[in-house]
Amino acid sequence: MNPLKKRIGVLGGGQLGRMMIEESLRLNIHYAILENDPHCPCAPLCDTFIEGSLMDEAKIRQLAAASDVLTWEIEHVNTDVLLALEAEGKTIIPRPSVLQIIQDKGLQKQFYRQHQIPTGDFYLVQTETEWFEAIEKLPGHKFVAKTRKGGYDGKGVAILSKYDVLNKLTSIPFEGPCLLEAFVPCEKELAVIVARDQAGNMLSYPSIEMEFDPEANLVTLLLSPARVGSIIEEKAEQIARNLVAAFDSPGLFAVEMFLDPAGNLYVNEVAPRAHNSGHHTIEACYTSQFEQLARILVGLPLGSTELLQPAAMLNLLGAKDFSGAYQLDKLAECMHLPGVYVHLYAKQESKPMRKMGHVCLMAPSVPELLEKAQYVAKNLVLVKA
Ligand code: ADP
Repeated sequence: MNPLKKRIGVLGGGQLGRMMIEESLRLNIHYAILENDPHCPCAPLCDTFIEGSLMDEAKIRQLAAASDVLTWEIEHVNTDVLLALEAEGKTIIPRPSVLQIIQDKGLQKQFYRQHQIPTGDFYLVQTETEWFEAIEKLPGHKFVAKTRKGGYDGKGVAILSKYDVLNKLTSIPFEGPCLLEAFVPCEKELAVIVARDQAGNMLSYPSIEMEFDPEANLVTLLLSPARVGSIIEEKAEQIARNLVAAFDSPGLFAVEMFLDPAGNLYVNEVAPRAHNSGHHTIEACYTSQFEQLARILVGLPLGSTELLQPAAMLNLLGAKDFSGAYQLDKLAECMHLPGVYVHLYAKQESKPMRKMGHVCLMAPSVPELLEKAQYVAKNLVLVKA
């Protein structure tokens, strides 16, 4: 089959799908999207839109019938149906068995341990007795509790004091199966995005350094390459590649890691799809993460992941104090600057901390980049229309 006549079916119609369409339309790829919300970011750009839930077997089968290859842009999908479709011969990238592991933070951690991927100590718990036993064994004063399934953007994650929970000053925050982890004193959070094609070739993007808004638990500023030095850079790349090799599946994978003050790296989690930490690759790399994924899906060769200039990315988040129609303050002033690329996701309504768009920034040197990023972060804000 001619790779340029292929039809890609995507479960989910958000901004990640939208940017993949934007980045590969020039390859004549046909896109079919399954999504509940007919006003989602992908709706105006795709060729075929199927309205429906990502859990609905009939709708997923309808998407599969309209596509040569299937992928997802969000993990909360019906994996059983994808496994069944794969068994029936459908090409699904990444393999649904990888998604099964990633959907469960407990299985993810066990997978890392099994494959000698460095990760913090952990225990899988459910009952109160199991919680208390695990907390006693975890090192340090603090620990991290996570629901095994269904969490995202920090929902379902709590950093707790061992003393407070053991003495019942703080109650157990989650019901059901949970993952309790050692708290990693984190100097920086890093991400390495790895692309693996259908023949097993792998390329990774230069490392990315992420700063989080602790309240919203979203990336606020991202820099690439990360300011870590070549030894850590190589170590991070090797860990990410080993992990993706262990998954033994084609696809695009964003591997998130913590760097502690002693220079140790610990894998936190993996996103088996394009990722928020890779948005700068659209302008700042020869091949964006989105085009790369499209290439993998249709069987084209991987493109160069080389970074052209130091790059930064800022998320444009909905203001905390309103929901509804919005506009961007100081848009003209910011777009006037060279190397500032504004991306808007065509979301109709702003909501507190909702990802409405992002800005990629590029500059010949890191100090210039940081100066520009600071200016844009301060000035380009979402306000009520
Ligand atoms: P989500 O899947 O919702 O993004 P994460 O597992 O990435 O949740 O956790 C959210 C954030 O909480 C991380 O980005 C990090 O800042 C913090 N965090 C998570 N696990 C740990 C840990 N073991 N030690 C220290 N901080 C952590």
